[in-house]
Amino acid sequence: MTHLEFYEELLGLPGLKINAIEQFPRKIILHCETQVGNGICPQCGEPTGIVNQYDSRRVRDLDISGKEVWLHLRTRQFVCHVCNRCFNESPEWIMPGKSYTKRQAKWVFEMCAKQPFTEVGALLNMCHRTVERLFYEQAVQQIDLPARYAKVRKMGIDEIANRKGKNDYVCVLTDLERGTQLDVLKDRKKETLRAHFQALGEGFCEQLEVVSCDIWRTYIHVAKECFPNAEVVIDRFHVVKALNGVLDDIRKGLRREFKDAPCFKGIKWKLFKRPEKCDRAELDLL
Ligand SMILES: [Zn+2]
Repeated sequence: MTHLEFYEELLGLPGLKINAIEQFPRKIILHCETQVGNGICPQCGEPTGIVNQYDSRRVRDLDISGKEVWLHLRTRQFVCHVCNRCFNESPEWIMPGKSYTKRQAKWVFEMCAKQPFTEVGALLNMCHRTVERLFYEQAVQQIDLPARYAKVRKMGIDEIANRKGKNDYVCVLTDLERGTQLDVLKDRKKETLRAHFQALGEGFCEQLEVVSCDIWRTYIHVAKECFPNAEVVIDRFHVVKALNGVLDDIRKGLRREFKDAPCFKGIKWKLFKRPEKCDRAELDLL
């Protein structure tokens, strides 16, 4: 193991690659880049691997041996080939738009519980105003989570027709383990879903382990974007529905092609029946 790899392992930040290290009396600078696959367009949710240019960013992480740790990060600016927009990648362990990691923010927040902002600022070599702002941002994220969301680990996202036949849907969120309804959102647009999940806070987004939804692409994109630790699964109802659709198309094709063959007549419901519920004659026919 090289000493660079040692530091990568010590930091344990996903996708972080350290290229060089500079040591100073009171700080350590790690020159690094991220190597996490494609970027996801914040506008349309499409993945893209096209890099437009590189930017650099300075991010403070937890101290090591009493020294400040600064990541000088080379970040990629991607181009979305669908909406032709540029956007910067932002690793999930950095506070969006800030110059510190999430765990640094958490640490500052915890320190503020025991001493005044000015004291924390002096200890960490940060402006006390920054400390104060950071404290309230963290506090909002930790307090605002409604109680019904507190224990949700597996969530379902589905829609129901608001007005039948009008292509007007509302989106329903359920707690899959407790079988309870969490919320009904006014529509199933990406912006609506994203705003709702972001308002619930990062703690909530990170605690989700499984998100189950139908094949509606927006749900899959939003789930991948908002819930870094969750596995996205397609619920069984929609998988079976899609499979049955294919099976029925094949049946219709055969029925047209072999108009006179009696074996394709009246077969439809037998095809969708569970094998263990079919009798001998039905099995023979199939
Ligand atoms: Zn896009």
